[in-house]
Amino acid sequence: MKYISTRGGMAPASYSEILLEGLATDGGLVVPETVPQLSSERIEAMRGLSYPELATEILSLYATDIPREDLAEMCAAAYRAESFVADEVVPLTPLDGQLSLVGLSEGPTLAFKDMAMQFLGQALEYVLARTDRTLNIIGATSGDTGSAAEYALRGKDGIAVFMLSPQGRMSDFQRAQMYSLTDENIHNIAIEGVFDDCQNLVKELSGDLDFKRAHTLGTVNSINLGRISAQMVYYFWAWLRATDAVAEAERASTAVSFTVPSGNFGNILSGHLARAMGLPIRRLVLAANENNVLDEFFRTGIYAPRGSAETYLTSSPSMDISKASNIERFIFDVLGRDGDRLASAWAELAETGRIDLTAELGRLETEFGFQSGTSTHADRVATIRDIHATTGIIIDPHTADGVKVAREHLEDGVPMLVLETAKPEKFPEIVFEATGERLGMPEHLAELLDLPQHVTEMADDAAQLREFIAARAVRSTIVPSAP
Ligand SMILES: *Cc1c(COP(=O)(O)O)cnc(C)c1O
Repeated sequence: MKYISTRGGMAPASYSEILLEGLATDGGLVVPETVPQLSSERIEAMRGLSYPELATEILSLYATDIPREDLAEMCAAAYRAESFVADEVVPLTPLDGQLSLVGLSEGPTLAFKDMAMQFLGQALEYVLARTDRTLNIIGATSGDTGSAAEYALRGKDGIAVFMLSPQGRMSDFQRAQMYSLTDENIHNIAIEGVFDDCQNLVKELSGDLDFKRAHTLGTVNSINLGRISAQMVYYFWAWLRATDAVAEAERASTAVSFTVPSGNFGNILSGHLARAMGLPIRRLVLAANENNVLDEFFRTGIYAPRGSAETYLTSSPSMDISKASNIERFIFDVLGRDGDRLASAWAELAETGRIDLTAELGRLETEFGFQSGTSTHADRVATIRDIHATTGIIIDPHTADGVKVAREHLEDGVPMLVLETAKPEKFPEIVFEATGERLGMPEHLAELLDLPQHVTEMADDAAQLREFIAARAVRSTIVPSAP
């Protein structure tokens, strides 16, 4: 399997190569050259596998340049019991007749980012060791990506992490989780701005090829294809578990729908790829909060990202994103995987601030299965309260956005699986507002809030950031050979 750019200007590269690269060299995003197809028999044959075994099976279709035994070891290490609280790694919990939660928050940082990041940490260490290289990870986070990356990469040899976060826009717990780390290879930087400003800084430095090469920069934010590939696994897992009780003859024709609380369009893009591989997914329902650029896109066919001044601070903060980088990969598929058409769509975006895909609007649902909806603060509170009252289960505000929108898209006889993207303990204020219950931290994490915090505050200024990184980047002891 080779990987190409959405804008058509990159020589095909292997999985190990793109694991270290977020953006393609031409400014596009890397995508698999073709999508592997799985027959229903082949998917059915995976039913008995454990989560790490299933991950090996799916990822071996993408990481074709890594020997299978090595991949199996990495998956076993990534999804080991010490990291994931639930035995099955990803538990399914029924809410009512049709709705179930897919539990993606059993990892060390209590959010779904661990699902991909724990694998990526293993894979990066493996690839770097094999090629005697070092890597300086630069990333932007609105909360969960950063902590998941830091917990996956802390203390790893040959890797340093430079993580940008928007000042004052994360929960106390998210800050405590990231800023309390004392590992020497972890650098937290709080930027004066919102998430999109942080992401733009990352794009600017990653787009400066000389700087990037000099300091062996890489990214692990949600455009990283290693993460997208690892996230496909739980769509397969969830479908298999949701159909365990279905009569064997009817399984292959049993489609389920997923609702995905979305921000950067990474999670749901993995669902899109799983569906393209042949997994029986009927609908992929995108749930947005008040920052609903993507809901608008799926309802109207107009993609019009907003600036940081129009990006609201909400009570589901990990979805406070108005320029979802991964949407480029989906639009690439909508435009027939044609790099020239994609490049001109992005030129249109740069010129007019929008892409008009109204001509393709029907296909977004009929061909790709997408629907969408928006949830507000009042919806989150009402949904958390209602789910608690009827089931005794407390959900987090992002998952609540998912449940709210899922309920608007139920179809008779089609199971609806809502991806649970974080644990409610991370967002105690809204849980209190909704239920009157004060959630404590899980015991093993309680003392985090009292630890000293380590963070560098910085203006939204690329020059300062360059200087900071240049002074602290890890360097290979190997002298690169002359070109
Ligand atoms: C990252 C995140 C999201 C959004 O996921 P994307 O892949 O960016 O769409 C939703 N909820 C939580 C809790 C998250 O951490």
